[in-house]
Amino acid sequence: MKDSFDKYIDATRRTLSSNIAPIHYKEHIKLALISARTVGIKLDIRLCYTSERRSEAVRHGHKDVVFIDQYLGQTLSNLARIVHESTSTAFALNYTAKMFAEHLRAHGKLREALVCARVHSQDDTKLRHLPKKGRRGASIFFQERFLVLHETYHFILKEKPLLRHSVNEVIEDYFDFLRRSRAENQEIFGDDDPKILNMLAADPDKLSIGLINEMVCDFFAFSVCVNSVSHGSKILGRDGKYLAAIGCLEALKSSQVVNVIRDTARYYSRNEIDEASSNLQDVMHDYQVRGRFMNWLCNTEPRGVMRSDQSLVEDIDSYLENYHDKLGVVAFTICEAILDGKFEDIFSADVEFVDGLLSSDQVDLNNSSEVIDVMTNWLPQERPLIEKLQKNEGESSSKYIKRLRQMLK
Ligand SMILES: [Zn+2]
Repeated sequence: MKDSFDKYIDATRRTLSSNIAPIHYKEHIKLALISARTVGIKLDIRLCYTSERRSEAVRHGHKDVVFIDQYLGQTLSNLARIVHESTSTAFALNYTAKMFAEHLRAHGKLREALVCARVHSQDDTKLRHLPKKGRRGASIFFQERFLVLHETYHFILKEKPLLRHSVNEVIEDYFDFLRRSRAENQEIFGDDDPKILNMLAADPDKLSIGLINEMVCDFFAFSVCVNSVSHGSKILGRDGKYLAAIGCLEALKSSQVVNVIRDTARYYSRNEIDEASSNLQDVMHDYQVRGRFMNWLCNTEPRGVMRSDQSLVEDIDSYLENYHDKLGVVAFTICEAILDGKFEDIFSADVEFVDGLLSSDQVDLNNSSEVIDVMTNWLPQERPLIEKLQKNEGESSSKYIKRLRQMLK
């Protein structure tokens, strides 16, 4: 039976409840409920599957429910494939276009959604064709665990604010570290360019309360995640705690991509371009601070990581490099270009194709929502019209990437 909470999600988002597979989350939710019960809190955690890709705590009367979005989990899994397994930036282009198509469609920007859906679906760079590498399974498992725990701790800390005192020392240590690296960078770069300095190390005295709250939840989620793995675990072996730690970092980095794309689509759809760029800079800044904090935790938290320091540092560095080269640079450049009013330029070949179909009445824009859903694989049906839209007459992804690179210059 659906109660008012489920009805709220159904009313505010596009949901596909039949896709929920509770088995994947059973252990994570159990762990989150135990963490809450330990401090005397009863929680209601539920799953949803929505095109928003967003977990959320909903309050109604005196009751709260934490909704975990399983489509976000699926997205993290695909982003991990891109970072760990993809062989060219075409995979990131393909998946970024899919996410844009879905969000633009939700906001009623059907022509642009159709264009992005076509960019996504005509290409042969399908993620499922990539060979699976060992690391990804553990990465997804811990990313999802981390995000469930992070949401849970927002809730726990709201009910038990005194708990955060136990993190004060860690946060202070981190701030000391930030001050030291800021001072070092100041010596090298001078302080005439505060932007560069902020890119290298944020000013701890200027971090907002909201951001520090996120870091506190990140810390708790990290600790529980890492400590949920026993030494020499049967499946993960000796590296279990280390895999958990790096999974937490990956969850933050992938969430950054998901959030920036979702926000860009929303701002663009509502024509709120002026607010968009400064808000998105804040989002990028906050995720960068959180990502660095997580990186620092992986390296300093003595209970956390069981690998020798050096190989951990190398693995984190190579992950961050792959994240930047294979995913971040493409996703963020597309976001920037769209907010810069260059949608028609980056996707020009597909814009032309879609406009051609629209003007010749071969596609009725008012009825294209379902077409977009099928092209982005939200719905499974096949239709002749969709085959036509998917016909490979557009530009190759290498051309897109070339154009993106030119924009970066
Ligand atoms: Zn949060």
